[in-house]
Amino acid sequence: MVSHLHQLFHAETCQSYIHTLRWKDRPLQCPRCQSHNVGPWGAYHYQPGLQRYRCKEQACTRTFHDLTGTRLDGSKRSLAHWLLATFLRCLACSSRRIARALGIHISPSDRWGWWLRHTALSYETERQVEDTVEADDLYHTAGNKGQAKGGGKQALGHRPRGRRKKREPGRGHDDKDRPAIIAWVSRQGAVVIQATRDCTVQTVQKAANLAVQAGSRLDTDAASSYQAVQGDVHAFGNHTKKEYARGDVHEHRAECLFALLKPSLRVFRGLSKHTLPGYVSFLQCLRNFRSQNACEPAERILYAA
Ligand SMILES: [Zn+2]
Repeated sequence: MVSHLHQLFHAETCQSYIHTLRWKDRPLQCPRCQSHNVGPWGAYHYQPGLQRYRCKEQACTRTFHDLTGTRLDGSKRSLAHWLLATFLRCLACSSRRIARALGIHISPSDRWGWWLRHTALSYETERQVEDTVEADDLYHTAGNKGQAKGGGKQALGHRPRGRRKKREPGRGHDDKDRPAIIAWVSRQGAVVIQATRDCTVQTVQKAANLAVQAGSRLDTDAASSYQAVQGDVHAFGNHTKKEYARGDVHEHRAECLFALLKPSLRVFRGLSKHTLPGYVSFLQCLRNFRSQNACEPAERILYAA
């Protein structure tokens, strides 16, 4: 019987995959002096399949391998662990679930999850939506999370996150443990999701400047924060007057995105408001690559790493 997933993987296959991925668009070179004058130099006993190279430059003469200088270098876990963790992360699994599937402790899984999420962001930081853009906002209950150092019942140094807290009516705010999430959805398919402190005129304007290309048409509801946004052509549907669509002016796509986003965030069982932006941006990345299967975003993340 196989107790954990990584046992099904062959170390040599993983190594040759990483080799192909790292050097797919450039020739093999020394990661320290960037010289192309390199040659094979044996192998490593402790990592089967990992080829060792040596730089032939007189000034350098150091050895390296396919993982030197990457985030995967020096890990005590095998490459199979890393490849599977990335794959499971792209299927939107929580760190605890990844830890159980791979047979590792929750804390490395959490740490890997953190940097896999942030590596994925390198594809999303510059993204802007254009043409007809729908915008909407929602408030997500997210407080402080975590335990006192060393466990036990010591004071956390902050208010507990209060997951059972009843939702107060009206708009949320970061200080009330209900930060806002603003989504910008292009009718062409691209999305930008931002986690913000609140949903005031200033925040929405700042978010729009980052997310929306100038000259786009904006379809929103009649909230005053959106009415004040400058620099774009504007159209509103007035939900309080039960007007949800007027011709092609509507925000059904933005609302649909939230219908997908809410269950995806629920998987993580109560996020801290400090990590919420990272999770939201990672889900944005998954959404923007939704036409591909989970292998392709996983490969992109590993390539960026
Ligand atoms: Zn060198």
